[in-house]
Amino acid sequence: MTAVERTLKTRFGFEKFRSRQQEDVVRAVIKGERDVFVCMPTGAGKSLCYQLPAVLATGITLVISPLIALIQNTASHQTLGKAAELNNFRYTAARGTHSSDARSFRRLGWSPSGPDAFNGFSSCRALSTLPSKNSTLYTRGKSFCRLTSEPFSLKSNHRSDLCSSGLERTTLSSLGLDSSAFGRVLPSLDQVEHLKTLNILASSINSKLPLEERRQILADLESESPRLKLLYITPEMVASPSFQPCLNSICSRGLLALLAVDEAHCVSQWGHDFRPDYLKLGELRSRLPGVPCVALTATAPKRVQEDIAHALRLKSPLTFVLPVFRKNLKYDVIFRDLLPDPYIHLHAFAKEALGGSMAEKGCGIVYCRTRESCEDVAHRLTKLGIMAKPYHAAGLKAGDRTTSQADWMEGRVAVIVATISFGMGVDKADVRFVAHWNLAKSLASYYQESGRAGRDGLPSFCRMYYSPKDRDQLNFLIRKEEKRGSQKELDKAPILDFEAMVAFCEKEGCRHATISQFFGDQKPNCDGACDFCHNPKVVRAQLERASALSTR
Ligand code: ADP
Ligand code: MG
Ligand code: ZN
Repeated sequence: MTAVERTLKTRFGFEKFRSRQQEDVVRAVIKGERDVFVCMPTGAGKSLCYQLPAVLATGITLVISPLIALIQNTASHQTLGKAAELNNFRYTAARGTHSSDARSFRRLGWSPSGPDAFNGFSSCRALSTLPSKNSTLYTRGKSFCRLTSEPFSLKSNHRSDLCSSGLERTTLSSLGLDSSAFGRVLPSLDQVEHLKTLNILASSINSKLPLEERRQILADLESESPRLKLLYITPEMVASPSFQPCLNSICSRGLLALLAVDEAHCVSQWGHDFRPDYLKLGELRSRLPGVPCVALTATAPKRVQEDIAHALRLKSPLTFVLPVFRKNLKYDVIFRDLLPDPYIHLHAFAKEALGGSMAEKGCGIVYCRTRESCEDVAHRLTKLGIMAKPYHAAGLKAGDRTTSQADWMEGRVAVIVATISFGMGVDKADVRFVAHWNLAKSLASYYQESGRAGRDGLPSFCRMYYSPKDRDQLNFLIRKEEKRGSQKELDKAPILDFEAMVAFCEKEGCRHATISQFFGDQKPNCDGACDFCHNPKVVRAQLERASALSTR
């Protein structure tokens, strides 16, 4: 076994690479001879492409990531850590996918009795349910290996399997543990936390970090041999004067192993999430000769790819581009104005996507354009029986926003109804649906937003509630923006991207093919994974009704 394979297994707990491409990227990054550009769809496992090399490298990997909220340490984790420590318990933060439970145990150096003793249990579902005093722990000695919230999450045969595998069954309250301490913690919300559960030293520096913690990190970095392997940092922070002495110090001592730029499309004005601070990275790069760079994104049409290479000064990068097609996503378009009651329609969709026939339940995202519709849709869904919370930048206090997000992340609320400010880098594997209540501003953004569904590879649903009224409004806004923007040559990219979005909704044809072709890929084999391929007649009939409505 090579060092790479061993690290993959023992440090990350993965049996094998997700794909040939993932492996190729990891090896190319480890080699470090050339810069690397990676474009792989959401869920393909891009993080590992720099995390694994970081573990093997001598020195520090700097990860540039726009996600302030997501790379933040959460106090709640510490709470569980404490509770666990006090009671001499070990704990795990499984991530809501089937096999991750077993994996997490192994990562913690804990071997389940018998091969795959934990595979196939639907119990990790429990980790996204709020534990209560009825929550059950399966223990062996002073280690617990499973926290469930029976009777909801474990089928009875699984329960007896667990008991027969030699584990004792007990409850939180009988152990004198406060269930609220557990309830807050279970999902590892972000990469840094996740790495910590793997015993990989990672930290983040961001504007919200308490001063003391920041001092500790900086002290480590400036020490003779820093222990930190990965430092997550926002583009603003890496460019800020206060960070320069530290950066210079690690660079001059040759301790900077790798620069990883995640969500690299943010560097491009033609990308759908342009962040001016990303442009500063070009200057940063020129000060770091000899440090290889890996840039990663899920969406990059040719033009954006070129921008990234240019802005980050990638030197003839090795390029890995995976097709955008994801066969587990089912796309469809519903004309909202044709519905007698769109809220009831949305509710039925959400219910089906969440409950379905499976015992498992996941969560969902509804995207709206305005704050009012976020509030409205969340309220309606909740009234109809699906717990939903709004998330938007305007009006909601930062605290409420964080609570909404945490409630959703930790499974207390099934659905979050959000403006697009929500979701950058949200790493939740079990998002079963993404519904757009309003039109997205471009097909690229739509692909990115809807792509937050189904990262675990299980079937998931992406629905657009289309309305020509939305189209006209957005059209107006985009053109206005355009006029104001550039005096020189009028750039048509945003308008063309928007028109592609509209065509996606209004034209007959495979939705997956439309997306793939937009990104320059071949037409994929959809095989019924969109409404048109599933039943073209229904799509046609809907278009006819819509056109009848508009000419009336
Ligand atoms: P991306 O950034 O490409 O959207 P992530 O890096 O967030 O994807 O990974 C998506 C999910 O896939 C994560 O839950 C991650 O733990 C998992 N994953 C990554 N690599 C592997 C692998 N080799 N085997 C199994 N799961 C993996
Ligand atoms: Mg990612
Ligand atoms: Zn199709």
